Amino acid sequence: MIIVIRPHTPAAQVEEVIREISQLGYTPNPIRGEYQTVVAAIGDETTHTSLESLTALPQVERVLRVQKRYKLASKESHPAGTVIDAGGVKIGGKHLVLMAGPCSVESEEQLLTTARAVKAAGATVLRGGAYKPRTSPYEFQGLGPEGLRLLEAARAETGLRIITEVLGEHDVDLVAKTADILQIGARNAQNFQLLIACARSGKPVLLKRGLSMRVEEWLLAAEYLLAHGNPNVILCERGIRTFENYTRNTLDLAAVAIAKQETHLPVIVDPSQGCGRADLVKVLCRGAIAVGADGLLVEVHPHPAEALSDGQQQLDPPSFADLVDSLRPFVAAAGRQL
Ligand code: PEP
Ligand code: MN
Repeated sequence: MIIVIRPHTPAAQVEEVIREISQLGYTPNPIRGEYQTVVAAIGDETTHTSLESLTALPQVERVLRVQKRYKLASKESHPAGTVIDAGGVKIGGKHLVLMAGPCSVESEEQLLTTARAVKAAGATVLRGGAYKPRTSPYEFQGLGPEGLRLLEAARAETGLRIITEVLGEHDVDLVAKTADILQIGARNAQNFQLLIACARSGKPVLLKRGLSMRVEEWLLAAEYLLAHGNPNVILCERGIRTFENYTRNTLDLAAVAIAKQETHLPVIVDPSQGCGRADLVKVLCRGAIAVGADGLLVEVHPHPAEALSDGQQQLDPPSFADLVDSLRPFVAAAGRQL
């Protein structure tokens, strides 16, 4: 860390700062200028006490971090991109993974019709919420255990791998019995007890970005999963809350590019929650591929107008098949394969 001491600070007060730095476990290296001293404090910022508290001393002007707050998620810790194996489906690397399915699991017919259609179009992972985080308690909350059973039936018939959301830490064991990938939703992205419980499940985890989460906070949430022993972490950008209301959320493709620069973890884009409009899904998928996304998570429903959740943003099966076909040249241009 770099500790900037105020100009014209008397030598005794500079020494006080240097003593505090040693006290906190760092090696101080003062650089004494004519008016001002700067101290480079050498030590591991991820294991030592943060020196940011030194700004409590009146002679300290600023404290600057040198290291990133996330370590296991950072590219330095793992320069090659991580490729995750979710029940045989690879996430990361050259392949662009397609995850698709309904927002909520509603019935056997709805789920199986969708599963067959998305598989025929090229998806390898079936999405569908058995437990739904709804803004209102009066809205459809998901089928719960029955939804998990239907997801298992869809996997048995189609061979698609299953991604489904886990809402609370007490449901992790139950949901992990069905899921090939556990989804942590935007509303739970900083529920640290849930993150720890999911890490311990041993299943790959897809971590959505929270509605108002900074990239650093998102990567630190991923760090929780990694630090608790689960190396199989997938990031998912799904739009953030802004002042804009032409879209439900503002899909932040810059954050995808940054996450790809900063981490070795695969990054997936969810254009469906990302904009909340079926008519924008196709162009946002193109953008996601262009900025380096490793996959797409797209909501598909046999009759979006009748959906019990998020009907406005779901594609019907022919539109999904058309979407996948239309993406082929973009996937090739990005040096990827479907
Ligand atoms: C979903 O995928 O249907 C969902 C609820 O996602 P998010 O947590 O991103 O809102
Ligand atoms: Mn949804």
